[in-house]
Parts: sequence; structure tokens; C-alpha cells
Amino acid sequence: MLEIVPLKAFKDNYIWTLRDGRCAAVVDPGEADPVIEYLAAERLALVAILLTHHHPDHVGGVPELLRRGPVPVHGPRNEPIATLTHPVAEGDGVAIPELGVDLSVLDIPGHTRAHIAYYGALSGAPSLFCGDTLFACGCGRVFEGTPEQMYASLAKLLALPDRTLVYCGHEYTLANIGFAQSLEPENTALAAREQRDRRLREQGKPTLPSTLADEKATNPFLRCREPAVIESANKYLGARIADPARVFAAIREMKNRF
Ligand code: ZN
Ligand code: FE
Repeated sequence: MLEIVPLKAFKDNYIWTLRDGRCAAVVDPGEADPVIEYLAAERLALVAILLTHHHPDHVGGVPELLRRGPVPVHGPRNEPIATLTHPVAEGDGVAIPELGVDLSVLDIPGHTRAHIAYYGALSGAPSLFCGDTLFACGCGRVFEGTPEQMYASLAKLLALPDRTLVYCGHEYTLANIGFAQSLEPENTALAAREQRDRRLREQGKPTLPSTLADEKATNPFLRCREPAVIESANKYLGARIADPARVFAAIREMKNRF
């Protein structure tokens, strides 16, 4: 029986761990210690490492994990990650036979030049590991790509099924909701989400995974055609634009200053 467990790292990173009774694979182990402790406590063997992009808070723990025994390291072909054994890009599959897991790779550049996501059915549920591209009620900063690229990457994820479970790299949800509410104060789905996710955080629980249906209803970066979001962008720019990629660029800039 496959389970997906978040291990906390640093201040607000999650290392998503796919495990059954014996084996485990980790996504974006920015630190080794939380993984090593979990594997020891649960008596699990590490069988694979999956990386979404090259930032240290996502790859920093890899060398130490590999010192304890070699395992395949999957990650973006076009990013500088010295520890990759299986460089991948869109069109490639990633198999973790020990866990009966098969994922496919999507290219979602923008946060970094060649950021990738892993997508597939886990225990029958469509599941997405999207690193720092799509966040719960937000999205990553555009560091190495262009806003147009980032918008196209988010649009690609938006085409996945509504019930897709979204496993992203950070617990940023409440801050993201605060920004979203400043853009769409009348959005009732957003207000409901704020209540629910605030309660989860008060109980010390992750707000993740979310679903793509939740994101469509509340995430402003996926709602660049909504009149309220367009209006907020226009107010900020002091201009009249409606092109969704330009609305995206405007609200991404607003978020950087929020
Ligand atoms: Zn990052
Ligand atoms: Fe990160």
C-alpha cells in the first residue's frame, strides 16, 4: 500500500516521500537528516531520488543520501545538478519498480530554466509533484525564465484532471491566500479555503496536497482571465490590459512586493 508522506525540512520545505512497507523514494531532499531519520525510524530502504530543479533547498541533501548507498537520481536534464544519474525531460518516464510507481515528466520552465514536474497515478489518484512552480494558492518566483514561460507552464498543469493532487515544495499557503484575497476579496471559495487552511496550520498540519480543482477556484495565477484579477492587475499597472500572460506578469510582480 503506497503512502505519500511530507517530511519537513528547513523552515517551510516539504520532502515528499513515497513509501510502502519496505521502500521509499524522496522528492527534492534539500536536507538529508529528515530523510535519514525517517528511513531509520520506519525501517525503510531508499530506492530513488527525484528532483524538480537545481535550487539548494531541493537538492542539498542528495550527496549525503548517496554516501549511504547509491540509488538512481532523476532530475532535469538541462540544469546543473552534479549528482543526476538519470537526466530526464518531457516525454520521459520515471519508473520506481520497487514501489510499483510510474511517473511521467513535464517540462515547466520559469522558476528555473529547466524545472520539471512528475505526474502519474498513485494508488489510483492522479498526483503531481511540481516543486516551486505551482504552489497552493500561488506560484514560484520567476528567476531564470520569463513570465510568459511561467504562465505557459502553469497553463500546462491546469490541463490536468481537476482531482489531481498537488504536492508542491513549500508550505506557503496562508501567505499566498492573503495575497489572493487582496486581488479577489469577493471570492467565496477563497474565503472558505482561508478558514480551512488556517485551521490545519493551527493544528500543525500541512495544507497539502491541494487539488487542481481548489487551485482553479482560488489560485490567482491560474485565474488570469477572471474580471476581478484583471481589474487588480490594471489598477496596479495604471493601464488596461486583458491578455492573460500580461495579467500574470503583473500579478507576479505585485506578489513580489506584497
Ligand atoms: Zn526553487
Ligand atoms: Fe524551494
